Amino acid sequence: MAKRFGLGVDVGGTKILAGVIDLDSGAVVGQAKKKTKAILGGAEILARLGDTAEAALADAKLPKGTALAGVGVAIAGQVDPERGVLIDAPNLGGARDLPIGDTLGRRLGLPVRLGNDVQGAALGEVRFGGGVGVERLLCVFVGTGVGGAIVHNGALERGATATAGEIGHLVVHADGRFCGCGGRGHLEAYASRTAITKVLLEELRRGRPSILRDLLRKEGLDQDAPGGTAIRSGILAKAVAERDELVLETLHDAGRYLGLGLASAINFYNPHRIVLGGGVIEAVPLLVELAAPRAKREALSVPGAAVEIVASKLGDDAGIIGAAILGATG
Ligand SMILES: [Zn+2]
Repeated sequence: MAKRFGLGVDVGGTKILAGVIDLDSGAVVGQAKKKTKAILGGAEILARLGDTAEAALADAKLPKGTALAGVGVAIAGQVDPERGVLIDAPNLGGARDLPIGDTLGRRLGLPVRLGNDVQGAALGEVRFGGGVGVERLLCVFVGTGVGGAIVHNGALERGATATAGEIGHLVVHADGRFCGCGGRGHLEAYASRTAITKVLLEELRRGRPSILRDLLRKEGLDQDAPGGTAIRSGILAKAVAERDELVLETLHDAGRYLGLGLASAINFYNPHRIVLGGGVIEAVPLLVELAAPRAKREALSVPGAAVEIVASKLGDDAGIIGAAILGATG
């Protein structure tokens, strides 16, 4: 039987990844990557999406005449999958009402399906990663934000308005920190890289000793830059390896809140398994070690004891693989 290929595009807060995926094995046969942080407007996002998708297709060098099973775009924001429109993306410079499905579909000559980035990654994990064969799966991804998605019997449980599983906006602290969505005390305001960065930069400005100063300087980053600078997950990992007190303390806090959010999700959904992924989790496995026991302990005893909490197996590729599955199956 001829192999089936799909094109998946994963649009995150810092980069666009596109990959041509062998849909039977999950293998990435071609890929391309572009940064998103310099992008200012919707038109540029649309153009760069198309460029990245075409570059991945060129990289795959598929035999002439190979038809793709579909194109999927998984994007860090709220989407309308019916209309193929990105409604709102606070982590992408506030892009609104972008007709990604139509625009990319015209450029590639193929139908395009849209999902949010975590829904895409969750489909990848359930098909080829840490969630294979799991009946009730919750995927939680910690990166620029904290996202979640529910997969029931292999299919996305999207909810009434395609936002089911948004664990980043569970309230973990009454009247707590403001969240990027405008709400207060949400998990994302405590456990995302954005939140962790904010705390660390504030502590550095207060004069707390930390190896972060040297690490940021080596990367050419300015801790006093207006609007703050992003502390990449790799820098956090280096500081953890050096047992930096400030970074460890901040990550312990983030892990505690992540555990609380997961405990609420366990009580509410009673999943068989939770897959934890995303840039921060991958760079700092300590977060899983902190959050998982906390979640099991804080949850009701029966669902807490039953749930398995594991790390993502697909890593950075989960998004493109899942987006390709989304494009091929809807
Ligand atoms: Zn929120």
